[in-house]
Amino acid sequence: MSLHDKYKLTKIINARGTFTPIGVSRSSKAICESVSSALSEFFIIDELQVLASDKISQLTGAEAGCVTHCGSASITLSIAATMTSISAEKIALLPDASTMKNDVIIPTGHVINYGHSILQDIRLTGANPILIGKERNGMLEEFEKAFSNGNVTCLLLVSSRLIKDKELDLKKVISLAKKYDIPTIIDAAGQDFRCKELLETGADLVLNSPNKYMLTPTAGMVYGKKSLVDAVYANEKGIGRSMKATKEGIIGVLAGIEERVNLDLNKWSEEQKEKVSYFVSTINKINGLEAISIPDATNLPFSRACVSINENEINMNSCDLAKLLKKDSPQIWTIDKECGDNKLVFELIPLRLDEVDIIIQRLKNIVH
Ligand SMILES: *Cc1c(COP(=O)(O)O)cnc(C)c1O
Repeated sequence: MSLHDKYKLTKIINARGTFTPIGVSRSSKAICESVSSALSEFFIIDELQVLASDKISQLTGAEAGCVTHCGSASITLSIAATMTSISAEKIALLPDASTMKNDVIIPTGHVINYGHSILQDIRLTGANPILIGKERNGMLEEFEKAFSNGNVTCLLLVSSRLIKDKELDLKKVISLAKKYDIPTIIDAAGQDFRCKELLETGADLVLNSPNKYMLTPTAGMVYGKKSLVDAVYANEKGIGRSMKATKEGIIGVLAGIEERVNLDLNKWSEEQKEKVSYFVSTINKINGLEAISIPDATNLPFSRACVSINENEINMNSCDLAKLLKKDSPQIWTIDKECGDNKLVFELIPLRLDEVDIIIQRLKNIVH
């Protein structure tokens, strides 16, 4: 009997992407088996973290890495690390950061919300977020002025399709931060496919949520400069106690990295492309709907399907359609907020073909 039947839980087809409130991703069989074996065993967590560091370095090319509880925890702990280094005394003081450099520079367009604002993950450490630039472009001169105020602990950047400030040149602003000896952290939670490229920007730490596209259980992955990674882990003995990596999380990340290292990316991308093409061409046979394949805005190696609604032919908008897709069982969840007027976006990566067909059938039934 499935868990959904046993506990009478809502069944979902997730075309919403790696969305935390509905369980993020589907682990592969190999990852499930590793995690399942971990749960009934004891381990020395420090030893697991040393192993994780080696594996993360192998994947990313970074000097060192460690596992945290999740993406959000990685942000808080990385900022704490820039304030405390590995000083036990400073670590014990947080979130009172009044005796440390505690300004965190973040471009206004990078102030994203993933259920809560990233600013709260900064403030949890006791640090003080300083927003640079208006809605879109923070000018380099504005960053330079902020960097020179003498109280800056780090520069926080975000790499995600959610950011508004798409034009900011990460490499340029990072090299400017280096001039002032200010470490840079990139929150790239969903972008583990781009780990090498993001490290090459010169960032001192890059953060991923391997539970997104690496299909692990809930976990965060931090990598980059060894002294800072050590300080991230050291903060588990401070404010990070509630953000600690679990044994199953670390073992899951090890299994996820093994799978990623062995992944035939071209073949995988081709499979994703075929699934999207099939969906798009089938949807285009439905009167009143028009589908296209749209590449990921941050160059992740896959596309999503964007479905537009012709309001002259169908008497509803995308909000109505999104609601109707959640009305029957299984509920169908879509990306309904990022795509502007009368469009719904479908991410098909975790879905089996029978689930893709259920979505198509549901759309046909609703529209006719
Ligand atoms: C998902 C996400 C987070 C939060 O990660 P969790 O692992 O869910 O805590 C933070 N930043 C970005 C850009 C994200 O996409």
